[in-house]
Amino acid sequence: MVEGSSKRKRPNILVTGTPGTGKTTMSTALAESTQFRHINVGDLVKDKNLHDGWDAELDCFILNIIEEGGNIVDHHGCDFFPERWFDCVVVLQTDNTVLYDRLSNRGYNETKLSNNVECEIFQVILEEAKESYAEDRVVALKSDTIQDMSRNITTMTDWVRNWHSAS
Ligand code: ADP
Ligand code: MN
Repeated sequence: MVEGSSKRKRPNILVTGTPGTGKTTMSTALAESTQFRHINVGDLVKDKNLHDGWDAELDCFILNIIEEGGNIVDHHGCDFFPERWFDCVVVLQTDNTVLYDRLSNRGYNETKLSNNVECEIFQVILEEAKESYAEDRVVALKSDTIQDMSRNITTMTDWVRNWHSAS
């Protein structure tokens, strides 16, 4: 049996974007307002102390909870997951000067800073998302200010409330 969106009672959301665009901030707040599960993929890998980054056990765990629905998956990449997992893919975007400041506050070195700012300027993650998922499931949201953040959380909370399974 293949798991698909039609079986889920609640949707799964992927929150993606260049590091520093606000994925974890948004996912945390959205998880609170929707009572969904927040899965920070980076932390999960770190917590499990997986040197290879991923393994069969983690794969199995993720598969089971994805099938249940009600997940907010927080990850900087998006071409990595099966398309059927997500009912909505949110790509956060930040003005490059704002992003530069956020990442230097985080202590990123020059190389890492310029790589990530370039990634943002060229909309690498948005392009990746459009290539990997149906275009009508991909939504780009501006994340420059606190106002942007709260509007995005309201938008997505409303979307969750109005979501109905395809079946
Ligand atoms: P990510 O998980 O994408 O790397 P974070 O959620 O950790 O990003 O946010 C990085 C930093 O930027 C944090 O200090 C956070 O408070 C701040 N931040 C994120 N989004 C916004 C926003 N829309 N407006 C203002 N500050 C933000
Ligand atoms: Mn994060």
